[in-house]
Amino acid sequence: MTAEESAGEWRDAVLCIDIGGTKFAAGLMTTDGQLIDRNRAEINPESSAELLFDLLTELIDGQRQRAAHHRVRILSVGVGSAGPVGRDCVTISPINIGAWQGFALRERLLELTGLPVFGELDAKALAMAEGWQGAAQGMRNFCAMTVSTGIGGGLVIDGRLIDGATGNAGHVGHLIVEPGGRRCGCGARGCLEAEASGLAIEAITGRSPTEPTYEIMRRTGTLVGRGAAMLCTTLDLQLVVVGGSVALGFAATFFNAAQEELDRIMATAASSVTGSAPLLVSTRLGDAGPLIGAGAVGLRGLRRARVATP
Ligand SMILES: [Zn+2]
Repeated sequence: MTAEESAGEWRDAVLCIDIGGTKFAAGLMTTDGQLIDRNRAEINPESSAELLFDLLTELIDGQRQRAAHHRVRILSVGVGSAGPVGRDCVTISPINIGAWQGFALRERLLELTGLPVFGELDAKALAMAEGWQGAAQGMRNFCAMTVSTGIGGGLVIDGRLIDGATGNAGHVGHLIVEPGGRRCGCGARGCLEAEASGLAIEAITGRSPTEPTYEIMRRTGTLVGRGAAMLCTTLDLQLVVVGGSVALGFAATFFNAAQEELDRIMATAASSVTGSAPLLVSTRLGDAGPLIGAGAVGLRGLRRARVATP
């Protein structure tokens, strides 16, 4: 035991990593769920696979140095990544990062850190974070959606985060909200992602989603509310938590339009037998949510590994 450890002041932590379509982030979360440090970097999604990994390595090295300053011991690495991802992020193929299609992220992080690495789809990680510390705390049935560069989702049903056959359940971006609308990357027309994601907004309006008009904020909210109504009707949900840079940036204008559309559809939906209208609310963890979600993935991985060890 070192002098510091015998002093009893060192805490355990998870190294959290968020792989987005336009940025990477890394942070330190204590095992009781406090995000105590973080840094981030914008990426050029056109970069080579190795340049991107170099950038991620810099972020990770920075946080590992900070760990000593905070007097925390890193037990594991938790990753939330833009999808699609393989189980535990053995490979990731973020749609917006051309050079990282089938990228062996888990192995590379293992080599880099020597720590156990656990991964999850970013929207599912966010659902874990919001159910743990955020707007869905204590809820057993909800959807967490991210409306940013792309659109993703994570579903918690009867208290369980749903994985699906390939681990990518909750891909709500391909709900069709405008029949006959814009062509989506998946081949269909009028998907939520093709109409309301940051990339779609830029293509439709010719403006960055950071400079929206009132109309585009309302329209995006309405379309997300329409998608949310399909989920609430199909899965008998009472709560949809929405985050992501586009939704959070459009703020009340977006959320009011989304709730109005959800109310309008649910009022007439044959399935609204319970009488209580579902709510669509903002994520409560703000831009810390993705890293707290990644941290939750890292903690869950450790717990499962302990259970598996006789
Ligand atoms: Zn689609």
